Amino acid sequence: MSCLDVLSDIKCFIVDMDGTFYLGDSLLPGAKEFAECAEKSGKRFFFFTNNSSHNEEECLIKLRKYGYDAKDGSVIISSHVTIDFLKRNRPGKTVYLLGNENLTGDFKKAGIPMTDENPDIVVLGFDTTLTYEKINKAANFLAAGAEYIATHPDNNCPLKNGFMPDTGSMMAMFERSTGRLPDIIMGKPYAYTVDYVTNRIGCKREEIAFVGDRLETDIAIGTKNGLKAVLVYTGVTTPEMYEKSEIKATVTFENIGELGKALI
Ligand SMILES: [Mg+2]
Repeated sequence: MSCLDVLSDIKCFIVDMDGTFYLGDSLLPGAKEFAECAEKSGKRFFFFTNNSSHNEEECLIKLRKYGYDAKDGSVIISSHVTIDFLKRNRPGKTVYLLGNENLTGDFKKAGIPMTDENPDIVVLGFDTTLTYEKINKAANFLAAGAEYIATHPDNNCPLKNGFMPDTGSMMAMFERSTGRLPDIIMGKPYAYTVDYVTNRIGCKREEIAFVGDRLETDIAIGTKNGLKAVLVYTGVTTPEMYEKSEIKATVTFENIGELGKALI
């Protein structure tokens, strides 16, 4: 079966950002070409990032600075999935949030009731302003039995020169301290993200494909939930790593531009 056959039912691509569309502070080869080809072939696409330390505005500014004129509303973040879950399924429940000013701002805008005393729920986001005081509070709330939700599972966040510990690493810390792992994890590769994305963009599951560079998140969201997933080799996964992995993509491409070319 050719690439075109495999992707012919796809109406919308959900594209990872770092290592897929850009790397460091510039667009990856083929990024603009992908956008042009998607448009020509009548396919829509949205960006999705697990990184809950950014808000939509920041992501749009970044994309535009790198030279891609991203449309308002085209960036979806694990924080959006988390907020949607709380509003639908935990209305009125109080939240102690571990998050920076971007994440906190989004929670406030959404009207999520927040507290730092006896919360119903502890939400662990990618808190780039984490302090020992916040860690201590959250650990005690978890030990006292608060529900525990994390925005995404990534262990590390890639940086221009190395990486920094991300939410998954904080989960490991809280597990050592309290014996607890999150009751629910949002973001890729988890099912609630698929439900949120399909609702938000108005597509059926079989009409969307996730595109990304990381097997455990971008590709696993496909394999775990019966969706198509496209791997690109411009980020963390090399062809050698992919060969050894049990997580398999529907198709693989050298870069996202090659995916674009396959659409027309
Ligand atoms: Mg990536």
